[in-house]
Amino acid sequence: MTEKDIPGQGTLKSVFRQLVDEERVPHAVLIHGLEGGSGLPLALYLVQTLMCENKQGGDPCGECAECIRTASYAHPDIHYIFPVNGNKTVKRPEDRHSDSFMVDWRIALKQNPYMTLIPWHQAIGIEKKEGIISDAESTSLRRKLALRSFEGGYRVFIIWHADKMNASFANKILKNLEEPTERTLFVLVTENPSKLLPTIISRVQIFKEDHLDEADLGDFIERKYDLSESEAMDVAFRAEGRIAQAMKEMEHQEDPWLDEFKNWMRMAYSQDMSGLFKWSENMSRRSRDSQMQFCNAALKVLDRCYRMGWMQVNIPLEGEGAKFFKDFSPFINTANVSGFLDLLEEASFHIERNVNEKIIWFDTSIQAIRLVHAGKKSVATG
Ligand SMILES: [Zn+2]
Repeated sequence: MTEKDIPGQGTLKSVFRQLVDEERVPHAVLIHGLEGGSGLPLALYLVQTLMCENKQGGDPCGECAECIRTASYAHPDIHYIFPVNGNKTVKRPEDRHSDSFMVDWRIALKQNPYMTLIPWHQAIGIEKKEGIISDAESTSLRRKLALRSFEGGYRVFIIWHADKMNASFANKILKNLEEPTERTLFVLVTENPSKLLPTIISRVQIFKEDHLDEADLGDFIERKYDLSESEAMDVAFRAEGRIAQAMKEMEHQEDPWLDEFKNWMRMAYSQDMSGLFKWSENMSRRSRDSQMQFCNAALKVLDRCYRMGWMQVNIPLEGEGAKFFKDFSPFINTANVSGFLDLLEEASFHIERNVNEKIIWFDTSIQAIRLVHAGKKSVATG
C-alpha cells in the first residue's frame, strides 16, 4: 500500500511517514476507521512504510523485497488477526484462528483491500454465523510471540475488526500492550473503538480516519478504473464518500441487501402475512451482524428514496437498482419516513441486545405494512 493507493487521508499518511522517519512509532496503534472506509489500507500503509528499505520521500517504494512481500500479504514478520468462525473445512474450535484462513485472506485482500466484514464472512463461508477473534487466536498469538522476528527487524500484528475480540483474547492482548516488547508493533483497526475494553484503549495511540470527500474519491476512481471525470464523480456521489461502496459498484457487485429489502417491501405492500412470517424466520437465522447490516442497508435505501422522491434530489443511478429506486421512492415521503427510520433503529437496538429476533422481525414487518400504506395514501391524496 503506497501513498497513491489510498484516496484522501493526507494528514494521517503524513503523520505515519513522520513517525517512521523519526523512529517514533508507538508500540500500539489503533486506527479508528469509518464504516466502509480505509481503516485496513491505512494500517497496511503504516506497516509498509515501516518495512520498506528504499523509501522515496518518506513513502514506501513499492518495489523493494520488503514492499513486495508486504503488498502480497506474505511477509513473515507481519501477522494478521481477523474475525473467523468454523466452516466446512475448519471445524475444530482450536483451529478457528486466522492462520487457518490465510489463503482466503490473501485472495480477498488482493481483490479488494477495502473489503468490509460481510464479504469477508461470505468469502470464508460463515455468513450465517458471526466472525470472532477467540481463544484459539490467543493460543496462536502466544506461539507467535514466543518466536523472534525472522528478519531481525520489526514484528507486526495487524488486528482487523479488533472489536470482535472476545474476553480471553482481550486479556491476552492487554498483557502485551502493558509490557511492550522491543520492535513489536500492534496495529488495531476498528470502526467501533467504544466496544473495546477501556484498559486497551488507554494503552494505544489512536488515529482517526478523516471523512473522504467526493472529489478525492472521484479522482481515485477515475485513475483506478480509467473512467471519464464525470463518470467517476457519479460513482463517488452515489457512494457518498464511502470507498468500499464505490469499489463494490465498480466491481459490479450489487448491494447484497437490496434484493432482500425489495422482497420485504413487496410483501409489506401486498400484506402477505405468511410471506412476512417466513421472511422473519429466515432473517432471524442470520448472524446478529448480518441482521444489523440489513438494518443499516435498509436505512440507507429509505434515506435515498426519500431524497429522490420527496425532495426531488437527482441521484444518478444505473443498473438493476435504478428501476427499484424510481418506482419505490414515491412511497417514501413525510407521512412515513421518520416512522421507518425509528422502526429500523429500534429493531437494530433490540437485535444488538439479543431480544428474540424472530419476534422482532415479525413485529417490524407488521409495522412496515402500516408505514408503506401510510406512504401510499399520502401519494394518492397529495
Ligand atoms: Zn520498498
